[in-house]
Amino acid sequence: MNPFSCLIIDDIFMNRILLKEIVKGFCTQIYEADNGKTAIELLQTHKINIVFMDIEMPIMNGLETTKYIRRRLSSPLCNIPIIAITAYNPEDFFDDYKDAGFNHLLTKPYSFSKIQTIVKALSL
Ligand SMILES: [Mg+2]
Repeated sequence: MNPFSCLIIDDIFMNRILLKEIVKGFCTQIYEADNGKTAIELLQTHKINIVFMDIEMPIMNGLETTKYIRRRLSSPLCNIPIIAITAYNPEDFFDDYKDAGFNHLLTKPYSFSKIQTIVKALSL
């Protein structure tokens, strides 16, 4: 398997564990952060291929973090694929998420097939 690393950003420990169980099927390295500020530091210091981003988090939420990555970080980091993870109906929020710079939305509950479909669509 080629090296493939992901960053899971969620303030809820159990959510990170659940997602980790799924992505470990295709990720050789998994990083975790519980807020956007820590996530940005990790992105700047580690080679990461894909980001799973919760929306509601303390310190720096998912929208703020994604906007920061897209607008403030330099290339190629600013183009990293970012998947929003949310329990909300995506129909209600999709325009906002696109404006913020998310590539895809992943609705809870997570499943291996949902994630696999997204990763394939991104051709990673
Ligand atoms: Mg949260």
